[in-house]
Amino acid sequence: MSKLALIALDGPSGVGKSTTAKAVAQALGWSYLDTGAMYRAVALALHREGLALTDRPALETRLASLKLEQRETRIFLDGEDVSEAIRTPEVTRLVTPVSADARVREVLVEQQRRIGARGGWVVDGRDIGTVVFPQACCKLFLTATAEARARRRFLELQAKGSSLPFEEILADQNRRDHADSTRAVAPLRKADDAVEVDSSELTLAQVVEWIVKHHREHQA
Ligand code: C5P
Repeated sequence: MSKLALIALDGPSGVGKSTTAKAVAQALGWSYLDTGAMYRAVALALHREGLALTDRPALETRLASLKLEQRETRIFLDGEDVSEAIRTPEVTRLVTPVSADARVREVLVEQQRRIGARGGWVVDGRDIGTVVFPQACCKLFLTATAEARARRRFLELQAKGSSLPFEEILADQNRRDHADSTRAVAPLRKADDAVEVDSSELTLAQVVEWIVKHHREHQA
């Protein structure tokens, strides 16, 4: 399999993948694809339209008409900018079963492969190195302890005026980690040839610098 000039950045919830991926893409002059935003946009569409995953014919029709687009870092669902709407706690809860659906994954993986086919992308998600782009030249698995991730999220939300307790954030994060890593289709796991980067004790700038250096040393 010939290698593709693409960085696959996988890891659990709240580990800072998207911020890291954006900064790495900028440093390399590459584009950035947020696959989590795609799953969130599908969850939002199904929720708004009252469409259940069990309603297979209707789901199939909807998936066929679905138009997802990422322009810069904004995500558009059938032409509407849903970048904020996909970040609500409700969508965060609803996206778990949606992303575990084999047919939803098939449709989105196909789109992701089409977008990244020519390389020059930093793609973040859960299954990028294992399923979507196994031929990526650079695979990273970003980790941090559950407490470190929840603590960061807690401080981030506090700065925005939220009073959500730390325990609640940690419990929700644990729920998502468990669901993502135990689902039957494309579970969250480190690809055998991915390099693990533990960011618990590192700043964002240090993680970005490390990835850019690693990539330059291992380019396709
Ligand atoms: O990364 P983010 O938290 O925005 O992703 C939203 C959800 O989409 C995750 O909780 C996960 O269940 C799912 N996801 C996935 N595969 C990806 C990206 C995200 O299953 N490649």
